[in-house]
Amino acid sequence: MPAEFKPLVVWLILNGKTEEALALLAENYRVNVPKLKIGLPKGHTNRAYGCYTPKNATISVLNSDAFGNPFVILHEFYHHLRTHSVDKQHKGTEKNADKFATEFLQAYEAAKRRQSLS
Ligand SMILES: [Zn+2]
Repeated sequence: MPAEFKPLVVWLILNGKTEEALALLAENYRVNVPKLKIGLPKGHTNRAYGCYTPKNATISVLNSDAFGNPFVILHEFYHHLRTHSVDKQHKGTEKNADKFATEFLQAYEAAKRRQSLS
C-alpha cells in the first residue's frame, strides 16, 4: 500500500475500496464525503461512466467497472470539490476534472515505478 496521498487514493479505488478513497479525499480537501452509488440517474443518456449530482452531493457510476476506475471517480470528485468550494458558481470544467484525475494517476504510476507496488 502506498504511503503518499495521491498514489494511496488511486490504489484504494483500484482495490475496490472506493468509499475509503472518497473519505480520504474529502478529509484532505476539507469537504463533506460525497455519497456514492452504482447506476446513473434517470435521463442520463450520454455515454458517461459517471456523473455528479450537486443537489444531493452524489457521485453515480455506471457499473462496478466504473466503481473501481480511479479516473472516473477522481473526475467526479473534482466536480464535488468545485461545487463545495467557496466559489460555488464555478464548478470547474471537464478539462480541469480530467487534469485533476490525471495528476493522481501519474503520481500513482511514479510511485509504482519507485516502490514496485503491485
Ligand atoms: Zn465531468
